[in-house]
Amino acid sequence: MKRTALIVDDSRAMRLVMGRYLKELGYEVTEAGDGKEALEALNRQGAHPDIALVDWNMPTMNGIELVQAIRREPRFSDVRLMMVTSETEGARVETALEAGADEYLMKPFTREILVEKLAVLGF
Ligand SMILES: [Mg+2]
Repeated sequence: MKRTALIVDDSRAMRLVMGRYLKELGYEVTEAGDGKEALEALNRQGAHPDIALVDWNMPTMNGIELVQAIRREPRFSDVRLMMVTSETEGARVETALEAGADEYLMKPFTREILVEKLAVLGF
């Protein structure tokens, strides 16, 4: 069965790049433009991505709020969460991990770095 990824980013360009990489890697991809849209996608019947790649800075509901919301749902406890951020401060990475993210990815990133980060999560 194909692995499934949910890409959550308010930048359409970023969703395109990430979507292309993930599709090339064999993932089936769903996209959302902010945290609220992501929760809507997750609440659709049968939705259960293997991984969600979550941008930090988004309108309406940011990445940290989304990670916390997903982690409050026991049925999504096995969804791996990768925080995607351009923030380089270690303190913010810590915040993301404390909120429930499993891994983080710094922007800008290459396809190789994405592959490495996915491998850390066992993909
Ligand atoms: Mg953003």
